[in-house]
Amino acid sequence: MIAGKYLLKISGCQMSFHDAEAIAGQLQHAGYAPTNNELEADVIIFQTCCVRETAERKIYGQINQLQALKRNKPDLIIGMTGCLAQKDQDKVLKLCPHIDFVLGTKRLGELEAILANLSLNRHPIVDVAEEGTLENLPQARTDGVRAYINITYGCNNFCSYCIVPYVRGPEMSREPNAVVAEVKDALASGYKEIMLLGQNVNTYGRDLGGRADFVSLLKTIDNLPGLARTRYMTSHPRDFTQDMILTVKNSRTVCEHFHLPIQSGSNRILKLMNRGYTREHYLELVDNIRTHIPHSSITTDLIVGFPGETEEDFAATLDLVEKVRFDAAYTFIFSPRKGTKAATLPEQIPSNVKKERLSCLNTIQSRISRDINLPLIGQKLEVLVEGPSKNNPDILSGRTRTNKLVHFSGPRDLVGHLVLVTIKRAFTWTLHGELVSD
Ligand code: SAM
Ligand code: SF4
Repeated sequence: MIAGKYLLKISGCQMSFHDAEAIAGQLQHAGYAPTNNELEADVIIFQTCCVRETAERKIYGQINQLQALKRNKPDLIIGMTGCLAQKDQDKVLKLCPHIDFVLGTKRLGELEAILANLSLNRHPIVDVAEEGTLENLPQARTDGVRAYINITYGCNNFCSYCIVPYVRGPEMSREPNAVVAEVKDALASGYKEIMLLGQNVNTYGRDLGGRADFVSLLKTIDNLPGLARTRYMTSHPRDFTQDMILTVKNSRTVCEHFHLPIQSGSNRILKLMNRGYTREHYLELVDNIRTHIPHSSITTDLIVGFPGETEEDFAATLDLVEKVRFDAAYTFIFSPRKGTKAATLPEQIPSNVKKERLSCLNTIQSRISRDINLPLIGQKLEVLVEGPSKNNPDILSGRTRTNKLVHFSGPRDLVGHLVLVTIKRAFTWTLHGELVSD
């Protein structure tokens, strides 16, 4: 017998989506079944993000829209988990009195107990304690091909714009045995690709007293039978070593895709951001990667409109983008986050200037992405088939080792397999091709 139906509303990064897999795992363990229909749900959980204000506003808007539903269905349980829950712990219930529970980032493992509690006594619960374990929680993985696996939790970097260290706590590495056991388990369940997650994967193991480091972990995982591809997210340019480049080069499964968030091309702004590297260091790193692995792809994150960013600083960012020629970039408007250093800096940039800079940056980056993709036409690329395309379920989509999204026609039973696709058309964000038949 099922206990009821649940609906998850997820926002944020891959780590947030992976947390949602642990939420779904616990709900299913407690006998709940998933639904996409709000009207049919007995439990609705918002797994949230607070990295930018826009995400936050959208989440509160969606929660408030549920007021009428809750009035008509008082037994409905509404919960908030994730970074916004941790950040707004004191005010969520004031802002949204129809919420039944608020669960902090370290307390995910308490979900089943909280639901059991609420079934006996309908008093709102706020559990945001800063201790707790996320080990051994049941997972309901949502991606059929790629398994997301945490290697670290939290972050020690305190980039001056970023709220993450405040809501996720200090960096804590998982024991290498626990990570490898989870990878083996995912492979035994048929997953072909592993995505190792951490806010700065390159510092993995620093808190384990010499028992582990990221390069050794990658080498161990690379040898596991059944694994087709290994990815990781995110790297910090300050901590990305020569040893890492050689490890990727010499590995079987680690993909030739380097996501290295630069954030700004101006040394002055990088210093204010507390990023711990210069543009010269970054350019050298890119050169080094391309010398050793010429066909690799490099992507980045960029923030425009950081406090005090002058036209010269912004021009330095555009110049860096032209010099590096990123395959793709995630670009953001600086969003002041209360509690971070950057939110208190003078010279906040007006919204219209930030928007203009974002648009200018995106125009340049889109042109570069397209120019990089066009020469791929005619090439045969190895694609790991992920499933039907999101926009057109009649065709398949998958990714190259360099993380380019490829659409092509083919039978459904190719999902989970490596195939060769000849690229026929290339756009800014996607490639279209034809399956190479044997
Ligand atoms: N740990 C990763 C790193 O260091 O790159 C990324 C974590 S963060 C969730 C993802 C991206 O959000 C960052 O790389 C940054 O570009 C962006 N970001 C973080 N705080 C921001 C803010 N206050 N305003 C705008 N963008 C922000
Ligand atoms: Fe935020 Fe910087 Fe940590 Fe990334 S490394 S999560 S940007 S503080």
